[in-house]
Amino acid sequence: MGEPSEQALYDELVLLIGELYHGEEAAEIVEAFQASLKSHTQADERMNILTHWVDFYRLRKYRRDRQRRRPTYQERTTACAACGYPASHRHHVYDVATHGESERTVALCANCHELQHLMYNALVNGSEYSRKLVNHIMYSERVDPAAVELVLEYCRATIRYEVKQGWVAAEKATDEWIELTLRWSDYQRHARSAV
Ligand SMILES: [Zn+2]
Ligand SMILES: [Zn+2]
Repeated sequence: MGEPSEQALYDELVLLIGELYHGEEAAEIVEAFQASLKSHTQADERMNILTHWVDFYRLRKYRRDRQRRRPTYQERTTACAACGYPASHRHHVYDVATHGESERTVALCANCHELQHLMYNALVNGSEYSRKLVNHIMYSERVDPAAVELVLEYCRATIRYEVKQGWVAAEKATDEWIELTLRWSDYQRHARSAV
């Protein structure tokens, strides 16, 4: 009830910064706030700073979220760029949080879209759970290897872009990393022998 506590405001500030910025950039902004708050010994001064910046980032997040528009009927009925299924989502190749509703989107059906994000999670975030799911899908015999290959290409376009921005380690865009994480050449051999 009443005023939120200093801790609650600080927690919200950190959360908002984490949503609006990436890894190192977010950490640097949080550090700057920590230093600024430490230099203000008066509790009401710290509250003023926190209130001001929480409002500022809330507004920024609101504006960003509003930029994410609903796809049009025509967009929804665009065939999947990987497998050809006749309805699709708009997948953002470049991060929406930073670039807003950029034009760089690709039409992917729900399945290929899911696969793309699982691949990303496996390759960039090292998620073992996602890697196992990707493997399961790849070897399911229900998914055209040509579609899997295209999904990987879209995924790599995102990773290369994020490497360029300095958000992701450069090695994650390399063939070696794809090989190590997804055992890609085994899969290609498997796909060729299955034809
Ligand atoms: Zn598809
Ligand atoms: Zn997406």
